[in-house]
Amino acid sequence: MNDTRGRPLCDLRISVTDRCNFRCTYCMPKEVFGRDFHFLPPGEILRFEEIARLARIFAGLGVRKVRLTGGEPLLRRDLTSLIAMLAEIEGIKDLTLTTNGSLLANMAPALKSAGLHRVSVSLDSLDDAVFRAMNDVDFPVQRVLDGIDAAGAAGLGPIKINVVVKRGVNEDSIVPLAAHFRGSGHIVRFIEFMDVGSTNGWRLDDVVSASEIAHAIDAVHPLEPLESNYRGEVANRYRYKDGSGEIGIIASVTQPFCGDCTRARISSEGLLYTCLFASQGRDLRALLRGGANDADIVRFIAGIWDAREDRYSELRTAETARAPKVEMSHIGG
Ligand code: SAM
Ligand code: SF4
Ligand code: SF4
Repeated sequence: MNDTRGRPLCDLRISVTDRCNFRCTYCMPKEVFGRDFHFLPPGEILRFEEIARLARIFAGLGVRKVRLTGGEPLLRRDLTSLIAMLAEIEGIKDLTLTTNGSLLANMAPALKSAGLHRVSVSLDSLDDAVFRAMNDVDFPVQRVLDGIDAAGAAGLGPIKINVVVKRGVNEDSIVPLAAHFRGSGHIVRFIEFMDVGSTNGWRLDDVVSASEIAHAIDAVHPLEPLESNYRGEVANRYRYKDGSGEIGIIASVTQPFCGDCTRARISSEGLLYTCLFASQGRDLRALLRGGANDADIVRFIAGIWDAREDRYSELRTAETARAPKVEMSHIGG
């Protein structure tokens, strides 16, 4: 199944909650996601059976990779039951989860036993003060590091460590993060700060470019570029010349990769998005709860993918950056 630009549907990201225990300034700024913010009531969020049914249908349409995300996915009660259901679906070769790591130290073994293959952990700095300021709930960095260790010990590696870089905030954390995980077998992936959503006050000036990031690391620990592993891989890969591992840089702003974007996303209330920067999703939950059979749902999804034209990052301008878009915490990264 290919879209109008010849891109197949290969990956599915499923948000299991719109809630989070962090308030990362670039994602869920406190001024917007404060006490009065209305998160989705439980009845509006897809149930596990509904998620598993959709995942099965998507696997039938060619999806091989499923990633659970949020909000913070580990806040969803009994998540391991969902993982066990997804792990049994034929065709899904890669079942992963993106987390802020805050609850991972306790949960890693259970996630692994339920059938999760790998985790990605977001960690923006090793400097405790910088990290606490970025998560904006005063969460200590050591607990995330403990979570990464627990996930490694449970067999959920190699772990990808996602670092969003924002100018004037955590540029000084780039080299220490690379150095800390060099030789660990885990892969640090630096992500250019993106204009997702409409609340994070994005400005192009705040983006530290992929080339700046690569130069900063290369100056201390020499790097050489690597080929990508597969079509649709979003990170530019580099290896350390001394053989001590690799890093990735996700240049969503300065080197858009829409031409290879093979991802669909489902928000926690069951809206289907074919681009991270979309303003509107398509209602799968209405079909699920309205008695549609699998063939109806397949037709609905196929129709949307067939007509898909998305290439937001290739077309980004100051004006599009200001336009209303779905929040990252709503559909996951
Ligand atoms: N709460 C989980 C976490 O933080 O890993 C999963 C959801 S979070 C929305 C998924 C990813 O999106 C995280 O790695 C986060 O750093 C990234 N992200 C959020 N806002 C971003 C932005 N404005 N630019 C780039 N990446 C962003
Ligand atoms: Fe929460 Fe993840 Fe967004 Fe941070 S990036 S506020 S941890 S959803
Ligand atoms: Fe894919 Fe949209 Fe990102 Fe382009 S901007 S890579 S189409 S999610």
